[in-house]
Amino acid sequence: MNADVVIAGGGPNGLFLACELRRAGVTPLVLERLAEISTQPKANGLVGRVVQAMDYRGLYERLSGRPGPPTPTPVYQFAGFGLDLRAVAGNPLYTLPIPQRVLEERLDAYAAELGVAVRRGWELESFEQDDDGVTLEVRTPAGRQRLRTRFLVGADGAHSTVRKQAGIGFPGSTDDRFVTRTGLVVIRDPGLVPETGELEVPDEGRVRPLQWHWTPRGAFAFASFEPGVHFIGSAEWDQPAVDGPVTFEEVRDAFCRVVGRDVVVEPAPGAAEWKRRAGSNARQAERYREGRVLLFGDAAHVHPSFGGPGLNLGLQDGLNLAWKLAAELGGWAPDGLLDTYHRERHPVGRRVLLHTVAQVALLSPGEDVRAVRQIFGELLDEDVVRRRIAELLAGADVRYEMSAAPHPLLGRWMPDLPLGTTRVGEVMRAGRAVLLDFTGEFGEAVEPWRDRVDHLRAETPEPPAPAVLVRPDGYVAWAGGSGLDEALRTWFGAVTAVAG
Ligand SMILES: Cc1cc2nc3c(=O)[nH]c(=O)nc-3n(C[C@H](O)[C@H](O)[C@H](O)COP(=O)(O)OP(=O)(O)OC[C@H]3O[C@@H](n4cnc5c(N)ncnc54)[C@H](O)[C@@H]3O)c2cc1C
Repeated sequence: MNADVVIAGGGPNGLFLACELRRAGVTPLVLERLAEISTQPKANGLVGRVVQAMDYRGLYERLSGRPGPPTPTPVYQFAGFGLDLRAVAGNPLYTLPIPQRVLEERLDAYAAELGVAVRRGWELESFEQDDDGVTLEVRTPAGRQRLRTRFLVGADGAHSTVRKQAGIGFPGSTDDRFVTRTGLVVIRDPGLVPETGELEVPDEGRVRPLQWHWTPRGAFAFASFEPGVHFIGSAEWDQPAVDGPVTFEEVRDAFCRVVGRDVVVEPAPGAAEWKRRAGSNARQAERYREGRVLLFGDAAHVHPSFGGPGLNLGLQDGLNLAWKLAAELGGWAPDGLLDTYHRERHPVGRRVLLHTVAQVALLSPGEDVRAVRQIFGELLDEDVVRRRIAELLAGADVRYEMSAAPHPLLGRWMPDLPLGTTRVGEVMRAGRAVLLDFTGEFGEAVEPWRDRVDHLRAETPEPPAPAVLVRPDGYVAWAGGSGLDEALRTWFGAVTAVAG
């Protein structure tokens, strides 16, 4: 075997999964078709539960450049509505601004520190799987090579070779009614308010940056991610098809059309990325596993990018998959553990497709949409509705199905409770399962699993249960006073599996 796991695709998701696997004692190999990290502008940040997940991995400071722990964002957006979350109790929405290129550079550096092999300029061309492993045909700068691995993971993006060759369908819909155009500019407009970053818009007055805005002509957004430079974006419906290279003038004119007046802008210094995208896809792989081949990230799901949910979804797929693959390779995985990856993550992906497609519908023009928006906007005046939307965007409403005795925490993300001089987020940095024992009575019960599960005698002002079993991905596998033995077997295998 050349590696325990070969990951096709060294984008953000492939790199993150490789780091997670390495930390779990697995030897991954990343194959990346491009010779260098792409400089194409894509994500501007992480949004949702993934920000806390990065904190629970000890990566928040490294990625954000700020001291942790992260705090919830006071404002966000949904379908062109501003979401004021300041009064929302237990606001679940976190953000971590970071351009995708920088994210990839930082994950790449982390992978290098962990000793992960990342082969750039290596492209997976084809593969065949058998009972024991997968044989890969790879094009490298030095010619073709054949590699052998126990598992192949496709993190090779929306057009995934792995997905297609594994024969996994990608059903869903393509909405080609609208065109988005984006670019980086300097706004030299007297209607830009320097103190607040707002922009004067006809009929609307001053509108705020960092969100999409609905107009009868389409939707627009603007935001400054570096001093003096603005991202501008527009989405227009039912326009004549345009081909050929995109220019600054095209991006500017579309933005001005939608805003409803001439906004004085000029190309940002060095900006050459003028983008036009026709419509969007909402598609999801039928299954995330085919034998020894697994899919995740954009290879498993694509959706409209409004609200930026892609990396929240993809990186948490990786978090879910890594420890299960490591268990399989370590020989202690209980029967069916790896299949829970699809069972748990597929519904989460479906929900992201749901809310991003809903956002496109709410952003499209028309009197009917205007009417729906008015009602929706009135609902958003209620804290409880804003909270529901924030949970949806964050993925904080995720609850994995589990068979243990019901408890409000079961299947949910383990909250970052204070634990004396430490907190849950710091305890989870080991990347291992942990039993938080709030009574001191469970040490003996967990002893036979100590190679897979840490035991922590923990104290917190209001313990949620006598003890809580947290999986390595931060989700609660069991909480209560009885039934621990069964939960340990369900998630961490029989004791004899490792001893033998
Ligand atoms: C304009 C735009 C804005 C976005 N904004 C946000 C945002 O603000 N927040 C957010 O969370 N998400 C955002 N997204 C989505 C986010 O960029 C994607 O979800 C993310 O890039 C997915 O990462 P990935 O690693 O799964 O796939 P990719 O980033 O597509 O990486 C796949 C990698 O696989 C490589 N590859 C492909 N085929 C092969 C092969 N056969 N062999 C070897 N390597 C191969 C590719 O070269 C590529 O490097 C945005 C997307 C776009 C387009």
